[in-house]
Amino acid sequence: MNSIVVHYKELALKGKNRPWFVQVLVRNLRRALHGLDIASVRSAMGRVEIELGPGASWDDVRDRIGHVFGIANFSYAGRAPHEFAALAGAILESLGDRTVPSFRVSARRADKRFPFTSPEIERQVGGLIKLHRQWPVNLGDPAMTIHIEMLPEDAFYYFGKEPGAGGLPTGTGGRVACLLSGGIDSPVAAYRMMRRGCAVLLIHFHSYPILSRASQEKVREITTLLTKYQQHSRLALVAFGELQQQVVLGVPAALRVVIYRRLMVRIAERLARAWKARALVTGEVIGQVASQTLENMTVIAEAATMAILRPLVGMDKDEITAQAERLGTLPISNIPDQDCCQLFTPRHPATRARLEQVLRAEAALPVAEMVTRAVEAAVVEEYRFPVLEYAAGRNAAER
Ligand code: ATP
Ligand code: MG
Repeated sequence: MNSIVVHYKELALKGKNRPWFVQVLVRNLRRALHGLDIASVRSAMGRVEIELGPGASWDDVRDRIGHVFGIANFSYAGRAPHEFAALAGAILESLGDRTVPSFRVSARRADKRFPFTSPEIERQVGGLIKLHRQWPVNLGDPAMTIHIEMLPEDAFYYFGKEPGAGGLPTGTGGRVACLLSGGIDSPVAAYRMMRRGCAVLLIHFHSYPILSRASQEKVREITTLLTKYQQHSRLALVAFGELQQQVVLGVPAALRVVIYRRLMVRIAERLARAWKARALVTGEVIGQVASQTLENMTVIAEAATMAILRPLVGMDKDEITAQAERLGTLPISNIPDQDCCQLFTPRHPATRARLEQVLRAEAALPVAEMVTRAVEAAVVEEYRFPVLEYAAGRNAAER
């Protein structure tokens, strides 16, 4: 066996866009598998086939494919001729000395011109396997299902299915920019947008050198982890401490958090536009902390001219935490740091900031100039998965 059959599901629903979706999926798979010994990646009759070279290990390949969005499931598979005896022979050989208490054959025809129906294929191939192994057939609850897919030229067979990452292929949903703090929520928000096919630019505001570098180190680690899902990330690090000091001098304490956020939104938007992103994403959740009220969200959003998406808005903290744990970002988020928003933040921020008050307070600030200064000083870092140097090293070693 030296193939992997990749099945997509949701993609099938996308009508006229479907060929493009599949093309993007194939491209993403090629990128994700970079540096491994892969002979080819191509789409074939409603599925994608990956042909492995002799140096590819199934464990490595499985880990890479498992992070690619747009995949329902995938299987380590063999290819064999259509003809029943040859097909059964190849299956028996691949099974080696494996034994199972019961089995069934489940056949599908990718090419309906194949002269036998699926039940006929199941009966014929199943009969031959039973004859050789004497395993009982159990259609309802078999210990092993032998899957067969008839293609125009030959057939695939496989014995198990790995769950795919689901969602839609990265890039098919356009670009968005996510405000990424070192907290628990925003990495999950970024992940959920990636899962829906968006390429996500990550933007972090830090208060170095007033505070430590800890928050930057955290978001770098989080970005490295998230990049497994989109293969390429851009992280913009924006120095925010000086702007906060300016706000402290000119703005009543209760309004500061909302004004910090409005500045963040404006800066993020400028960076997003430069990257052709169409919307901002935050990890905001209604009522999670005192300042995340509908009133404050509305006043913050008023500073934006592009849509602000909040994929977690209706989720409970424990649901978000569980997702962060599965994603692997939770232990990073839990590392204590000094978030820039705690800096110069009053003990009692306004829970219902009034827009008129906020606008009046902002009028005392050189907002446009502050935004431009922050945007110009932003530091952009590129992240790739797989890391190319590593991949290049592997290739060189293989040669
Ligand atoms: P998180 O866990 O994502 O930090 P939170 O519950 O702590 O969320 P807030 O601190 O109120 O909530 O932040 C709300 C949202 O604002 C965050 O989810 C994030 O999108 C954005 N945000 C907050 N602080 C920063 C920051 N320093 N850099 C970038 N974005 C930030
Ligand atoms: Mg936070």
